[in-house]
This record gives sequence, structure tokens and C-alpha cells, in this order.
Amino acid sequence: MQRDIERLRRMAQLVEDDLRATMPGTWKCDLRSDYVLVIGSEQGVAELAIAEDVDRDNWPEEAWTAEYHDFTIDEDANEAIAEAVQDALGTWGLRWPICREHSAPLSPCSGVWACSSAIAHDLADVGALSPQQATATHETAPLQAP
Ligand SMILES: [Zn+2]
Repeated sequence: MQRDIERLRRMAQLVEDDLRATMPGTWKCDLRSDYVLVIGSEQGVAELAIAEDVDRDNWPEEAWTAEYHDFTIDEDANEAIAEAVQDALGTWGLRWPICREHSAPLSPCSGVWACSSAIAHDLADVGALSPQQATATHETAPLQAP
């Protein structure tokens, strides 16, 4: 099943709003029609391909029942964009978005940024993140292989 490019673009637009709100520079985040995410600011631009098809194995079987199907499609699009954005920022040594209170990464869950610290809490809707809530951190050490 091919991912819906309009759905992916809506998420990219929301993430662009959050990038602009929480990081210096004028960020842009958009998805080309060939499923390549283009992200960057005045500092430079990165391109990262997103898989065109939903990886059904990424989701439990019940995610594809009639009850959850639409929700799963939304979640899949949101996660695909968030992961690509985070991978692209990683090439510049940036980790984003990071919860200011707990220094922990945020991930999108049902359209809301959720903190991955032990004190799991929701911060804001994706697209409505504030600089008081989240920031980016710069890796000081080179990435180590696990
Ligand atoms: Zn937190």
C-alpha cells in the first residue's frame, strides 16, 4: 500500500512549524512528489528518501482491522516524517526535538509530541511546539556504533 503523499506533506508542514518555533533559522520541511524529504535552513539542506509503501509488518495485526485502519495510516505517516526529519538532522549532529524539562527526545503519538523520559508526558500537538517546551541538542561526541 502506497503512502498518501498529501498526508505525509501535512505532517511535514506541521513539523516545519515546530522546527521554526524551536530552532534558530528559517527552516523548511517538504516532501517532493518522488517521496524525498527536503529539509534545511540557511545553514544547508538535506534530502532523505522515505519508503513509498507502508511497512505493514511494522504494525500489529489488529492495527489493520476496520476499527484502527485509518488511525494506523495517520500514525504511519506521522512516524515516517518524524523519523526522516530526525535522521536528516542527525547528519548535522543535531537531535530534535528534545524535552527541555527532561532532556529526553520527543516522538509523535496520535498527533501529539510525547516525552520519552520515565515521566511520560504530552507536550503539545505536533505543529504547536513552543521554545519553552522543546529544543535541539548538538552531539558533542561522534556517533558510536552500538
Ligand atoms: Zn519531558
